[in-house]
Amino acid sequence: SQDDEKEHIFRSRYPSVEVPVNMTLPNFVLHDAESYAEKVAFVEAVTGKSCTYGEVLRDTKRFAKALRSLGLRKGRVVVVLLPNIAEYGIVALGIMAAGGVFSGANPTAHASEIKKQVEVAGAQLIITNGANYEKVRGLELPVIVMGEERIDSAMNWDELLEAADCSSNNFVNEEVNQTDICALPFSSGTTGMSKGVMLTHRNLVANLCSTLFSVTPEMVGQVTILGLIPFFHIYGITGICCATLRNKGKVVVMNRFDLRTFLNALITQEVTFAPIVPPIILSLVKNPIVEEFDLSKLKLRAIMTAAAPLAPEILNAFENKFPGVQVQEAYGLTEHSCITLTHADPSKGHANAKKNSVGFILPNLEVKFIDPDNGQSLPKNTPGEICVRSQCVMKGYYNNEEETARTIDENGWLHTGDIGYIDDDGDIFIVDRIKELIKYKGFQVAPAELESILLSHPSVEDAAVVPLPDEEAGEIPAACVVMNKGAKESEEDIINFVGSSVASYKKVRVVQFVDAIPKSPSGKIMRRLLKDKIVERKAAN
Ligand code: AMP
Repeated sequence: SQDDEKEHIFRSRYPSVEVPVNMTLPNFVLHDAESYAEKVAFVEAVTGKSCTYGEVLRDTKRFAKALRSLGLRKGRVVVVLLPNIAEYGIVALGIMAAGGVFSGANPTAHASEIKKQVEVAGAQLIITNGANYEKVRGLELPVIVMGEERIDSAMNWDELLEAADCSSNNFVNEEVNQTDICALPFSSGTTGMSKGVMLTHRNLVANLCSTLFSVTPEMVGQVTILGLIPFFHIYGITGICCATLRNKGKVVVMNRFDLRTFLNALITQEVTFAPIVPPIILSLVKNPIVEEFDLSKLKLRAIMTAAAPLAPEILNAFENKFPGVQVQEAYGLTEHSCITLTHADPSKGHANAKKNSVGFILPNLEVKFIDPDNGQSLPKNTPGEICVRSQCVMKGYYNNEEETARTIDENGWLHTGDIGYIDDDGDIFIVDRIKELIKYKGFQVAPAELESILLSHPSVEDAAVVPLPDEEAGEIPAACVVMNKGAKESEEDIINFVGSSVASYKKVRVVQFVDAIPKSPSGKIMRRLLKDKIVERKAAN
């Protein structure tokens, strides 16, 4: 259209797909599960514990019912502090079916970080397991514990389910509409602290419709997918659990990465599709442990890599070592309900986007690239900030209108803080990131959070945290710190100080003492300059 010409708006090269407008997410993924009730939906790679589609449906119903009788009100948040386990999908879908909001928390997080998430989200209830119970003990909220253990006054998951009546067919709370919020994952967005991202049933259903557009009828029920990406992240719960349930596939659940267990699981469970992150690809390429395995036994047809950039050398090395396994790069962000750009499915028999590109625009999405200085949209082959508009764009940040308005403009465009361009064929390449975010092995680290911890140290006068490139992790958090006169602490002391109050992936791994933090006239930290300085100083040492 003329608007597109003026505005340089790009769309998918594939036709639009229909999004059902009245279905909640649990309905969308489980509506037909009764007819293949015997099929296994989730199996844990290490313990072999599994649940069938029939069990997923029954227990989702029972859990939703139990939550309602515990008084969970519509729109209230339930924080889930669990590693990837066979029942994770049931927990999340049960909360949504009850009308609640699922907010996954990272099980490696510190008690103080969980407390913050619970407070920001105004949670009404917590679900965890024995291993993580200590982190939530003091929070004065009702707690449900999974597994064998019976702890204190906490409720037990099995007992709750057994007591719940699941005879009714209609398992989703009738008050729930597709436009209601069902998930509240956390992301720092383009700036500042971690924020609750309000995602609605429609956001997630629309995202699944777009991402699953390339699934052919022959593929339905045939895919065995690796569930290693954390399910607390929206990529894990939607992209892996919900997408697989919708397609009648099987998820092989793993709760941590260990190369031998990983390769064993791929072979014995006959995994056909493995969504992973670049550091895992690096170890598949470099670690000699891989030689212990007979790779000809792999049934793997494709891997998907997202969350952070994949170095072209690593991609080449992977293709040489695993011929016949297609590499699909993808790009997405929590604020856009997960996947946004992707390569086509292997069912097509060929990659539908160029190597080293993050893929093409999914059906139903609009994308533009803007000049970050003046907001003008840019033509093809010209790098700019990626903006996306679709039904997958979050409703906003929870209780934070200011950050919402900064991120979604008045025309509905989500500003991603990533820089990329689209080529003549419609393939998109990411070239840079202008938002503050640091990605350690694909995990989000918000500089503002580490800066506020650093500033709480009595000897620290000023501090700034920036990403430093790292072969294994992609990026590591590095701090420039201005110490008070006469301070005695070493750089090591500062590293330990931060490390004692954050999850280990957020640790500051490099500290450099500096005389001043460079700031713009408006007081903004000049992060690019600082990063270049640290890289220079490290190279000189
Ligand atoms: P999250 O919300 O945790 O999924 O993080 C989203 C951010 O991760 C994006 O805005 C990008 O900065 C980065 N990201 C995701 N996928 C890719 C990719 N394929 N290549 C480069 N960066 C990526």
